[in-house]
Amino acid sequence: MSDKFDVIFIGGGPGGYVGAIRAAQLGLAVACVEKMKGKDGKATLGGTCLNVGCIPSKALLDSSYKFHEAREGLAVHGITASGVALDVPAMIRRKDDIVKQLTSGITQLFKANGVTHIKGSGKLLADRRVAVLDDAGTETLYEASHVVLATGSVPIDIPVAPQDGQYIVDSTGALEFSEVPPRLGIIGAGVIGLELGSVWKRLGSDVVLLEAMDSFLPAMDQFIAKEAKKTLGRQGLDIRLGCRVSTASVKEGKVEVRYSDKDGNPQQELFDRVIVCVGRKPNTAGLFAEDCGLSLDQRGRIAVDGQCATNVPGVWAVGDLVRGPMLAHKASEEGVMVAERIAGHKAQMNYDLVPGVIYTHPEVASVGLTEEQVKESGQAYKVGMFPFVASGRALAANDTAGLVKLIASEESDRILGCHIVGASAADLVQQVAIAMEYGATAEDIGMMVFGHPTLSEAVREAALAVNGHAIHIANRKKR
Ligand code: FAD
Ligand code: NAD
Repeated sequence: MSDKFDVIFIGGGPGGYVGAIRAAQLGLAVACVEKMKGKDGKATLGGTCLNVGCIPSKALLDSSYKFHEAREGLAVHGITASGVALDVPAMIRRKDDIVKQLTSGITQLFKANGVTHIKGSGKLLADRRVAVLDDAGTETLYEASHVVLATGSVPIDIPVAPQDGQYIVDSTGALEFSEVPPRLGIIGAGVIGLELGSVWKRLGSDVVLLEAMDSFLPAMDQFIAKEAKKTLGRQGLDIRLGCRVSTASVKEGKVEVRYSDKDGNPQQELFDRVIVCVGRKPNTAGLFAEDCGLSLDQRGRIAVDGQCATNVPGVWAVGDLVRGPMLAHKASEEGVMVAERIAGHKAQMNYDLVPGVIYTHPEVASVGLTEEQVKESGQAYKVGMFPFVASGRALAANDTAGLVKLIASEESDRILGCHIVGASAADLVQQVAIAMEYGATAEDIGMMVFGHPTLSEAVREAALAVNGHAIHIANRKKR
């Protein structure tokens, strides 16, 4: 038997590494077991988010947007740019450098906070023992008073589109293309499909997204989803709904995809590359021994209560491994909540106010209830909207697509939800999330002083519009 810790986190993504740092800050003896290797073959921390998820995808989104703007967005400002050229390997190297900088930063933070980084693959055994298998094939046993499972998720494979790592790839492969595929097929028009589709579209690919569902982004506020689809369609993303892929096979350096369209008619497309992004599943493979007594829920996730405790005393689970949206900030806040509860605090997390963002341009962001959810709850509500085309700042930036939509309770005027398509929607929606956390009404936001000219003014105008008092658009009703 090796060392004993107060807490062992298995998995060093946002759920694990953030929780480990917080637990160490609270004076606990903490270890974090992580098996991932970076592109350089060395042990890395930060999980999916830092290595192959949020950060590298945003690096490519930002780079590709600059390229697109340099080519197509400057003339309107009276700027002529000629000879704008693309160096894809340099763009990928920049992305890799950012990943390296951030993941190395976690290693430093572990050192600074006294978190022990155990390199290898962890497995939970009975009685809160953890077996770690390292690269050399050596297994070491550790003991802990608490174990937090934070092994995240992995992409879902579909047998009809077997990945070969070159022509048919998952999101990780799509962050590594060394050149722009002239025709790019994407199976699944969800968050990853839209973000990575945007990257390669801006860099010059002809992008077709084949989505199985008949509706677009069905979990989102449907008014906003329709607005987003229209805007992304105008940018050239060819989003085809109701498509059932039957085969995707590599033939002479191309991928032939056969599918039936929304009317059930057989169709065929030839692509240079195909990305499969049809969702992710909890990463439970080999994570725990049978005799642990750990329960899974109906969807194969580790079953937890509202504070991320499993059915086994002293064993917790956070992040993509458990119920709720698969988002980095949700995972990290769960990590913090669990660390604080282990240290004896009464921490809680407000699951009603986890923002969601799709980092296309314009961004699509939301917090709280959608109009469909409010309707279903049966409560009376009112809606205020403000289009960015009426915002002085959006016009100045030539970035006028989209709108802010605020939903408030008819009775109390409290804000129930905010949904935005528009430039900087992610940051704007966070302002409303803060207001909602403090129980703000639409009137409260309407009474605040917003800097001028800012995109934030659109949030205030939408809040004013809720009660028919918007200044810079005609109100539907006046009070
Ligand atoms: P992970 O980040 O998946 O970390 C789990 C870690 O556990 C991994 O490092 C893994 O190697 C390790 N592990 C697994 N099994 C073992 C084991 N047995 N022993 C030791 N270690 C193990 N979310 C957002 O909020 N915003 C975004 O912009 C965003 N963009 C994304 C873009 C892409 C392309 C993808 C794929 C995901 C994106 N996500 C985004 C989702 C986000 O990455 C995840 O929700 C988040 O990383 C989940 O955190 P986690 O800690 O639960 O798991
Ligand atoms: P997703 O659930 O967002 O989208 C998957 C899409 O694929 C859905 O629209 C689904 O209907 C469709 N689909 C499923 N099976 C299909 C099939 N056989 N053929 C065609 N379409 C099919 O999942 P994702 O885009 O893979 O992303 C995975 C997770 O990663 C998401 O849960 C998301 O929360 C997270 N993520 C978040 C961000 C962000 O916050 N900006 C970015 C990327 C990923």
